[in-house]
Amino acid sequence: MSPPLLDEIRALIAAEGPLPVSRYMALALGHPRHGYYMTRDPLGAAGDFTTAPEISQMFGELIGLWAVATWQQMGAPSAVRLIELGPGRGTLMADALRAARLLPAFGAAARVHLVETSPVLRARQAETLKDSGADLAWHGALEEVPEGPALVLANEFFDALPIDQFVWSGSAWHERRVGLDAEGRLAFGLDPAPSRSAAAFAAGRPDPAPGDILEHMVEGPARALARRLATEGGAALVIDYGHDARETGGAYGDTLQAMARHRFVDPLAEPGAADLTAHVDFASLASLARAAGARAFGPLGQGAFLARLGLFERAQSLMRNASEEVAAGIAAAVRRLAGDREGEMGSLFKVLALAHSDLETPPAFDGP
Ligand code: SAH
Repeated sequence: MSPPLLDEIRALIAAEGPLPVSRYMALALGHPRHGYYMTRDPLGAAGDFTTAPEISQMFGELIGLWAVATWQQMGAPSAVRLIELGPGRGTLMADALRAARLLPAFGAAARVHLVETSPVLRARQAETLKDSGADLAWHGALEEVPEGPALVLANEFFDALPIDQFVWSGSAWHERRVGLDAEGRLAFGLDPAPSRSAAAFAAGRPDPAPGDILEHMVEGPARALARRLATEGGAALVIDYGHDARETGGAYGDTLQAMARHRFVDPLAEPGAADLTAHVDFASLASLARAAGARAFGPLGQGAFLARLGLFERAQSLMRNASEEVAAGIAAAVRRLAGDREGEMGSLFKVLALAHSDLETPPAFDGP
Protein backbone atom coordinates (compact mmCIF):
# COMPACT_ATOMS: atom_id res chain seq x y z
CA MET A 1 0.00 0.00 0.00
CA SER A 2 1.38 3.41 -0.87
CA PRO A 3 1.25 6.32 1.57
CA PRO A 4 -1.91 8.48 1.22
CA LEU A 5 0.02 11.57 0.15
CA LEU A 6 1.76 9.69 -2.68
CA ASP A 7 -1.64 8.66 -4.08
CA GLU A 8 -2.89 12.21 -3.79
CA ILE A 9 0.18 13.64 -5.58
CA ARG A 10 -0.11 11.03 -8.35
CA ALA A 11 -3.76 11.99 -8.89
CA LEU A 12 -2.84 15.67 -8.93
CA ILE A 13 -0.17 15.11 -11.59
CA ALA A 14 -2.54 12.98 -13.65
CA ALA A 15 -5.09 15.81 -13.56
CA GLU A 16 -2.87 18.89 -13.87
CA GLY A 17 0.45 17.71 -15.29
CA PRO A 18 3.92 17.68 -13.66
CA LEU A 19 4.35 19.87 -10.54
CA PRO A 20 6.96 22.55 -9.92
CA VAL A 21 9.46 21.35 -7.27
CA SER A 22 8.18 24.04 -4.88
CA ARG A 23 4.63 22.68 -5.11
CA TYR A 24 5.86 19.15 -4.46
CA MET A 25 7.93 20.30 -1.46
CA ALA A 26 5.06 22.36 -0.05
CA LEU A 27 2.74 19.33 -0.24
CA ALA A 28 5.28 16.85 1.14
CA LEU A 29 6.06 19.07 4.14
CA GLY A 30 2.90 21.05 4.72
CA HIS A 31 -0.12 19.14 3.38
CA PRO A 32 -2.74 19.80 6.10
CA ARG A 33 -3.41 16.11 6.81
CA HIS A 34 -0.43 14.15 5.48
CA GLY A 35 2.43 16.69 5.37
CA TYR A 36 5.65 15.63 7.06
CA TYR A 37 5.64 18.35 9.75
CA MET A 38 1.89 18.15 10.31
CA THR A 39 1.92 14.59 11.55
CA ARG A 40 4.99 14.19 13.74
CA ASP A 41 7.81 15.50 15.89
CA PRO A 42 10.75 14.66 13.61
CA LEU A 43 13.55 15.75 15.94
CA GLY A 44 16.06 13.87 18.04
CA ALA A 45 17.75 10.49 18.13
CA ALA A 46 14.48 8.57 17.69
CA GLY A 47 13.33 10.86 14.87
CA ASP A 48 14.78 11.83 11.51
CA PHE A 49 17.32 14.56 12.31
CA THR A 50 18.92 16.45 15.19
CA THR A 51 19.33 20.23 15.32
CA ALA A 52 21.78 22.45 17.21
CA PRO A 53 19.44 23.34 20.11
CA GLU A 54 18.83 19.60 20.64
CA ILE A 55 22.59 18.96 20.82
CA SER A 56 23.29 21.31 23.72
CA GLN A 57 21.63 23.93 25.91
CA MET A 58 24.63 26.18 25.21
CA PHE A 59 23.33 26.93 21.71
CA GLY A 60 20.06 28.51 22.86
CA GLU A 61 21.70 30.18 25.85
CA LEU A 62 24.22 32.01 23.67
CA ILE A 63 21.46 33.07 21.30
CA GLY A 64 19.50 34.37 24.31
CA LEU A 65 22.50 36.49 25.27
CA TRP A 66 22.73 37.72 21.67
CA ALA A 67 19.06 38.74 21.86
CA VAL A 68 19.59 40.64 25.11
CA ALA A 69 22.65 42.47 23.77
CA THR A 70 20.83 43.34 20.53
CA TRP A 71 17.84 44.61 22.52
CA GLN A 72 20.19 46.91 24.43
CA GLN A 73 21.61 48.11 21.11
CA MET A 74 18.05 48.90 20.01
CA GLY A 75 17.82 51.25 23.00
CA ALA A 76 16.13 48.70 25.30
CA PRO A 77 12.54 49.33 24.12
CA SER A 78 9.99 48.65 26.89
CA ALA A 79 8.18 46.20 24.59
CA VAL A 80 9.86 43.87 22.14
CA ARG A 81 8.48 40.88 20.26
CA LEU A 82 10.76 37.86 20.57
CA ILE A 83 9.70 35.84 17.52
CA GLU A 84 10.86 32.37 16.55
CA LEU A 85 10.18 30.94 13.10
CA GLY A 86 9.77 27.14 13.12
CA PRO A 87 10.57 26.54 16.81
CA GLY A 88 10.62 22.71 16.61
CA ARG A 89 10.38 21.41 20.18
CA GLY A 90 10.76 24.89 21.71
CA THR A 91 14.18 24.00 23.11
CA LEU A 92 16.06 26.98 21.66
CA MET A 93 13.45 29.40 23.03
CA ALA A 94 13.46 27.77 26.48
CA ASP A 95 17.27 27.93 26.72
CA ALA A 96 17.35 31.50 25.35
CA LEU A 97 14.73 32.72 27.86
CA ARG A 98 16.58 31.10 30.75
CA ALA A 99 19.84 32.85 29.78
CA ALA A 100 18.02 36.13 29.13
CA ARG A 101 16.72 36.16 32.71
CA LEU A 102 20.12 37.52 33.69
CA LEU A 103 18.62 40.84 32.65
CA PRO A 104 15.13 41.00 34.24
CA ALA A 105 14.25 44.15 32.26
CA PHE A 106 14.51 42.15 29.04
CA GLY A 107 12.19 39.47 30.41
CA ALA A 108 9.68 42.17 31.33
CA ALA A 109 9.84 43.71 27.85
CA ALA A 110 9.69 40.52 25.77
CA ARG A 111 6.51 38.94 24.41
CA VAL A 112 7.21 35.55 22.85
CA HIS A 113 5.66 34.74 19.45
CA LEU A 114 6.05 31.29 17.94
CA VAL A 115 5.43 30.97 14.20
CA GLU A 116 4.58 27.31 13.64
CA THR A 117 2.30 25.48 11.23
CA SER A 118 2.46 22.01 12.80
CA PRO A 119 -0.16 21.21 15.45
CA VAL A 120 2.05 18.40 16.79
CA LEU A 121 5.01 20.73 17.29
CA ARG A 122 2.85 23.54 18.73
CA ALA A 123 1.79 21.14 21.48
CA ARG A 124 5.39 20.13 22.05
CA GLN A 125 6.47 23.81 22.28
CA ALA A 126 3.69 24.57 24.78
CA GLU A 127 4.92 21.69 26.94
CA THR A 128 8.59 22.75 26.77
CA LEU A 129 7.79 26.39 27.55
CA LYS A 130 5.07 25.96 30.16
CA ASP A 131 7.37 26.88 33.06
CA SER A 132 9.27 29.61 31.22
CA GLY A 133 7.21 32.36 32.80
CA ALA A 134 6.94 34.00 29.38
CA ASP A 135 3.83 35.33 27.74
CA LEU A 136 3.42 33.02 24.67
CA ALA A 137 1.41 33.34 21.45
CA TRP A 138 1.31 31.10 18.35
CA HIS A 139 0.84 32.19 14.73
CA GLY A 140 0.71 30.47 11.35
CA ALA A 141 2.90 33.07 9.61
CA LEU A 142 5.12 36.02 10.50
CA GLU A 143 2.60 38.41 8.93
CA GLU A 144 0.18 37.51 11.75
CA VAL A 145 2.49 38.68 14.55
CA PRO A 146 1.32 42.10 15.86
CA GLU A 147 3.40 45.16 15.05
CA GLY A 148 6.32 46.49 17.07
CA PRO A 149 10.09 46.12 17.18
CA ALA A 150 11.17 42.51 17.10
CA LEU A 151 14.01 40.08 17.59
CA VAL A 152 13.51 37.16 15.24
CA LEU A 153 15.20 33.77 15.51
CA ALA A 154 15.14 31.16 12.74
CA ASN A 155 17.17 27.98 13.15
CA GLU A 156 16.75 25.41 10.38
CA PHE A 157 13.58 27.18 9.22
CA PHE A 158 14.58 28.56 5.81
CA ASP A 159 15.90 25.17 4.65
CA ALA A 160 12.36 23.82 4.98
CA LEU A 161 10.89 26.44 2.65
CA PRO A 162 10.03 25.30 -0.88
CA ILE A 163 12.45 25.94 -3.72
CA ASP A 164 12.12 25.79 -7.49
CA GLN A 165 14.82 24.31 -9.70
CA PHE A 166 15.83 25.15 -13.27
CA VAL A 167 18.22 23.27 -15.56
CA TRP A 168 20.40 25.05 -18.16
CA SER A 169 20.08 23.40 -21.57
CA GLY A 170 22.95 25.32 -23.14
CA SER A 171 20.66 28.04 -24.47
CA ALA A 172 17.79 28.39 -21.94
CA TRP A 173 16.63 27.55 -18.40
CA HIS A 174 13.96 24.86 -18.11
CA GLU A 175 11.98 24.30 -14.95
CA ARG A 176 12.45 20.94 -13.23
CA ARG A 177 9.12 19.28 -12.54
CA VAL A 178 7.85 16.24 -10.65
CA GLY A 179 5.87 13.98 -12.97
CA LEU A 180 5.14 10.28 -13.44
CA ASP A 181 7.30 7.72 -15.27
CA ALA A 182 5.96 4.88 -17.45
CA GLU A 183 5.33 2.74 -14.34
CA GLY A 184 3.44 5.54 -12.60
CA ARG A 185 6.25 6.33 -10.15
CA LEU A 186 7.17 9.93 -9.31
CA ALA A 187 10.07 11.09 -11.47
CA PHE A 188 11.85 14.34 -12.24
CA GLY A 189 11.45 15.82 -15.70
CA LEU A 190 11.84 19.17 -17.41
CA ASP A 191 9.27 21.62 -18.65
CA PRO A 192 9.90 21.62 -22.43
CA ALA A 193 9.12 25.36 -22.66
CA PRO A 194 11.92 27.71 -21.52
CA SER A 195 11.27 29.36 -18.14
CA ARG A 196 10.29 33.02 -18.23
CA SER A 197 11.38 33.78 -14.67
CA ALA A 198 14.67 31.89 -14.26
CA ALA A 199 16.86 34.42 -16.09
CA ALA A 200 16.09 37.01 -13.42
CA PHE A 201 16.95 34.53 -10.63
CA ALA A 202 20.27 33.76 -12.33
CA ALA A 203 21.28 37.43 -12.63
CA GLY A 204 24.70 38.15 -11.14
CA ARG A 205 25.80 34.49 -11.17
CA PRO A 206 28.58 33.06 -13.34
CA ASP A 207 27.71 31.76 -16.84
CA PRO A 208 26.07 28.33 -16.49
CA ALA A 209 27.25 25.15 -18.22
CA PRO A 210 24.77 22.69 -19.76
CA GLY A 211 23.15 20.62 -17.00
CA ASP A 212 23.76 23.22 -14.27
CA ILE A 213 20.89 23.49 -11.79
CA LEU A 214 19.72 26.86 -10.52
CA GLU A 215 17.71 26.89 -7.29
CA HIS A 216 15.34 29.61 -6.21
CA MET A 217 13.64 29.77 -2.82
CA VAL A 218 10.06 31.02 -2.53
CA GLU A 219 10.55 34.63 -1.51
CA GLY A 220 7.45 35.40 0.58
CA PRO A 221 8.75 34.58 4.08
CA ALA A 222 12.14 36.27 3.53
CA ARG A 223 10.45 39.38 2.14
CA ALA A 224 7.98 39.51 5.02
CA LEU A 225 10.84 39.26 7.50
CA ALA A 226 12.94 41.99 5.88
CA ARG A 227 9.95 44.30 5.45
CA ARG A 228 8.98 43.88 9.05
CA LEU A 229 12.49 44.72 10.30
CA ALA A 230 12.75 47.70 7.94
CA THR A 231 9.43 49.19 9.02
CA GLU A 232 9.00 48.13 12.67
CA GLY A 233 12.64 47.90 13.76
CA GLY A 234 14.70 45.12 15.25
CA ALA A 235 16.97 42.34 14.06
CA ALA A 236 16.91 38.70 13.02
CA LEU A 237 19.27 35.73 13.14
CA VAL A 238 18.97 33.21 10.31
CA ILE A 239 20.92 30.05 11.09
CA ASP A 240 21.02 27.22 8.57
CA TYR A 241 23.16 25.05 6.39
CA GLY A 242 23.73 26.52 3.05
CA HIS A 243 26.08 28.36 0.82
CA ASP A 244 27.17 31.85 0.15
CA ALA A 245 27.09 32.03 -3.67
CA ARG A 246 30.28 34.08 -3.59
CA GLU A 247 32.05 30.86 -2.60
CA THR A 248 33.21 28.71 -5.50
CA GLY A 249 30.67 26.15 -6.57
CA GLY A 250 27.90 27.77 -4.60
CA ALA A 251 26.09 29.26 -7.55
CA TYR A 252 24.62 26.09 -9.09
CA GLY A 253 23.82 22.57 -7.97
CA ASP A 254 21.03 20.32 -6.77
CA THR A 255 20.75 20.59 -2.98
CA LEU A 256 17.25 19.16 -2.59
CA GLN A 257 17.60 16.33 -0.11
CA ALA A 258 15.43 14.03 1.92
CA MET A 259 16.21 12.52 5.31
CA ALA A 260 14.52 9.81 7.28
CA ARG A 261 15.87 8.13 10.40
CA HIS A 262 19.14 10.12 10.11
CA ARG A 263 19.87 8.82 6.57
CA PHE A 264 19.56 10.38 3.14
CA VAL A 265 16.70 8.91 1.11
CA ASP A 266 15.27 9.52 -2.37
CA PRO A 267 13.33 12.86 -2.22
CA LEU A 268 10.53 11.37 -4.36
CA ALA A 269 10.24 7.98 -2.61
CA GLU A 270 8.01 8.77 0.36
CA PRO A 271 6.47 12.26 0.30
CA GLY A 272 5.14 13.12 3.75
CA ALA A 273 7.29 10.49 5.49
CA ALA A 274 10.77 12.00 4.96
CA ASP A 275 12.07 15.50 5.71
CA LEU A 276 12.76 17.53 2.57
CA THR A 277 15.18 20.44 2.63
CA ALA A 278 17.36 22.54 0.38
CA HIS A 279 20.53 24.48 1.20
CA VAL A 280 19.85 28.10 2.01
CA ASP A 281 21.26 30.54 -0.54
CA PHE A 282 22.53 33.20 1.87
CA ALA A 283 23.72 35.64 -0.80
CA SER A 284 20.23 35.75 -2.33
CA LEU A 285 18.62 36.03 1.10
CA ALA A 286 20.88 38.98 1.98
CA SER A 287 20.25 40.80 -1.29
CA LEU A 288 16.52 40.23 -1.05
CA ALA A 289 16.59 41.68 2.48
CA ARG A 290 18.59 44.70 1.34
CA ALA A 291 16.16 45.30 -1.51
CA ALA A 292 13.35 45.34 1.07
CA GLY A 293 15.15 48.04 3.07
CA ALA A 294 16.91 46.01 5.80
CA ARG A 295 20.64 45.62 6.44
CA ALA A 296 22.39 42.25 6.23
CA PHE A 297 25.50 41.11 8.10
CA GLY A 298 27.52 37.96 7.43
CA PRO A 299 26.99 35.13 6.96
CA LEU A 300 29.46 33.93 9.55
CA GLY A 301 30.24 30.26 10.10
CA GLN A 302 28.27 28.90 13.05
CA GLY A 303 31.54 28.00 14.76
CA ALA A 304 32.91 31.55 14.56
CA PHE A 305 29.55 33.00 15.61
CA LEU A 306 29.29 30.81 18.71
CA ALA A 307 32.95 31.35 19.62
CA ARG A 308 32.48 35.12 19.49
CA LEU A 309 29.47 34.82 21.79
CA GLY A 310 31.56 32.88 24.32
CA LEU A 311 30.93 29.18 23.55
CA PHE A 312 34.28 28.03 24.93
CA GLU A 313 34.00 30.06 28.14
CA ARG A 314 30.45 28.81 28.69
CA ALA A 315 31.55 25.20 28.10
CA GLN A 316 34.40 25.60 30.55
CA SER A 317 32.19 26.96 33.27
CA LEU A 318 29.72 24.10 32.79
CA MET A 319 32.57 21.57 32.87
CA ARG A 320 34.10 22.92 36.06
CA ASN A 321 31.61 21.21 38.37
CA ALA A 322 30.73 18.32 36.08
CA SER A 323 31.57 14.62 36.33
CA GLU A 324 34.12 13.30 33.85
CA GLU A 325 31.36 11.77 31.76
CA VAL A 326 29.28 14.95 31.64
CA ALA A 327 32.39 17.01 30.85
CA ALA A 328 33.20 14.71 27.93
CA GLY A 329 29.64 15.18 26.67
CA ILE A 330 30.02 18.97 26.81
CA ALA A 331 33.31 18.81 24.92
CA ALA A 332 31.69 16.61 22.26
CA ALA A 333 28.79 19.07 21.92
CA VAL A 334 31.24 21.96 21.44
CA ARG A 335 32.99 20.02 18.65
CA ARG A 336 29.71 19.12 16.97
CA LEU A 337 28.36 22.69 17.10
CA ALA A 338 31.54 24.53 16.19
CA GLY A 339 33.98 22.07 14.59
CA ASP A 340 34.94 21.98 10.92
CA ARG A 341 35.21 18.26 10.33
CA GLU A 342 32.81 15.91 8.55
CA GLY A 343 29.55 15.73 10.50
CA GLU A 344 30.33 18.91 12.47
CA MET A 345 28.35 22.11 12.04
CA GLY A 346 30.91 24.89 12.51
CA SER A 347 31.32 25.91 8.90
CA LEU A 348 28.57 23.94 7.14
CA PHE A 349 26.05 26.01 9.11
CA LYS A 350 26.05 29.75 8.68
CA VAL A 351 24.54 32.68 10.52
CA LEU A 352 23.14 35.73 8.76
CA ALA A 353 21.90 38.77 10.68
CA LEU A 354 19.28 41.13 9.25
CA ALA A 355 18.48 44.44 10.89
CA HIS A 356 16.75 47.78 10.67
CA SER A 357 19.01 50.35 9.01
CA ASP A 358 19.41 52.39 12.24
CA LEU A 359 20.87 49.48 14.16
CA GLU A 360 24.63 49.24 14.68
CA THR A 361 26.41 46.04 13.73
CA PRO A 362 24.76 43.29 15.83
CA PRO A 363 26.86 41.44 18.44
CA ALA A 364 29.35 38.90 16.97
CA PHE A 365 29.13 40.32 13.42
CA ASP A 366 31.55 42.44 11.44
CA GLY A 367 30.45 45.68 9.79
CA PRO A 368 28.20 45.40 6.69
N1 SAH B 1 14.09 25.40 14.88
C1 SAH B 1 13.89 24.04 15.34
C2 SAH B 1 13.15 23.13 14.35
C3 SAH B 1 13.67 23.04 12.95
S1 SAH B 1 12.65 21.99 11.95
C4 SAH B 1 15.22 23.43 15.74
O1 SAH B 1 16.25 24.01 15.40
O2 SAH B 1 15.23 22.39 16.38
C5 SAH B 1 11.65 23.15 11.05
C6 SAH B 1 10.57 23.82 11.85
O3 SAH B 1 9.88 24.72 11.01
C7 SAH B 1 9.51 22.90 12.41
O4 SAH B 1 9.09 23.43 13.65
C8 SAH B 1 8.42 22.99 11.34
O5 SAH B 1 7.17 22.56 11.79
C9 SAH B 1 8.47 24.46 11.03
N2 SAH B 1 7.96 24.86 9.72
C10 SAH B 1 8.24 24.33 8.52
N3 SAH B 1 7.66 25.03 7.52
C11 SAH B 1 6.99 26.06 8.12
C12 SAH B 1 6.21 27.15 7.63
N4 SAH B 1 6.00 27.32 6.34
N5 SAH B 1 5.70 28.01 8.53
C13 SAH B 1 5.94 27.86 9.85
N6 SAH B 1 6.68 26.85 10.37
C14 SAH B 1 7.19 25.95 9.52
